[in-house]
Amino acid sequence: MRKISIRILGLFLVAVALVGCGSNQVNKGKETENNGKLNVVVTNSILADITQNIAKDKINLHSIVPVGKDPHEYEPLSEDMKKSTDADLVFYNGLNLETGGNAWFSKLMKNANKKENVDYFAASEGVDAIHLEGKGKTDKEDPHAWLNIENGIIYAKNIEKQLAQKDPENADYYQKNLTSYVAKLTALDTEAKNKFETIPEAKKVIVTSEGCFKYFSKAYGVKSAYIWEINTEEEGTPDQIKNLVDYLKQSEVPALFVESSVDSRPMKTVAKDTDLKIYAKIFTDSIAKPGEKGDSYYAMMKWNLDKIAEGLSQ
Ligand SMILES: [Zn+2]
Repeated sequence: MRKISIRILGLFLVAVALVGCGSNQVNKGKETENNGKLNVVVTNSILADITQNIAKDKINLHSIVPVGKDPHEYEPLSEDMKKSTDADLVFYNGLNLETGGNAWFSKLMKNANKKENVDYFAASEGVDAIHLEGKGKTDKEDPHAWLNIENGIIYAKNIEKQLAQKDPENADYYQKNLTSYVAKLTALDTEAKNKFETIPEAKKVIVTSEGCFKYFSKAYGVKSAYIWEINTEEEGTPDQIKNLVDYLKQSEVPALFVESSVDSRPMKTVAKDTDLKIYAKIFTDSIAKPGEKGDSYYAMMKWNLDKIAEGLSQ
């Protein structure tokens, strides 16, 4: 008898819980749909930060690739699929980043039934693209345009334009935030352009794992060398490491760097084989974790500029 009543009570509690849960879900769903805010999805932490600087609390923002992870190759989670389906607006980098390799973003947009330049937009639209180097790759664009701050400003302007179109009520607010954000980035860009003037040319080479500094090199006059061309190809093969080590041995380059979003082991091998130190971790394809140095697009660029200038001045 006692057993039965406990069972009945148990069933009753489950039923109450289910009803409770159900009504909560409905309310929660209504809140997200009707909080009056635009649902915006972005592919990575850099785009998330730029978007946040313009929209602040006026949007619901979901960023797909986690901080510190590689945005070239990614497997979307069911949450990414849901947020993408519900999105009013989606931003991706373009230029062969999320659409290179396994093209995870193209598949996600198809599955979420989203249309290019209607629902989703490339933040890099209008950037002067640089192509990859090496056999069979020169027809592909290099995605890392944001490492030139002038391009980061183009991203911000593109994002503001689409936000204002989808949400005209807040257009003035977005425009005001864009203006102050661009002023801040422009000052950093000017700093960057003067930063490396006193470093001798023979030392002025930024060495990283991935060849991600082409836009940076062109903008700020610091040449680059690397182990592999792009994260969608084989990373750190013995031949790739040997080529870089041979180059470094006959150069005056004083320091190595490693990106926060790659496996650091190949660069550690380069350090061992050349007796050069890895001077600092830098941020290329992701911002830093919240609260750490480099946890915004502005802060990661500032960190990179300071560390690269220090490392190459040795
Ligand atoms: Zn990359």
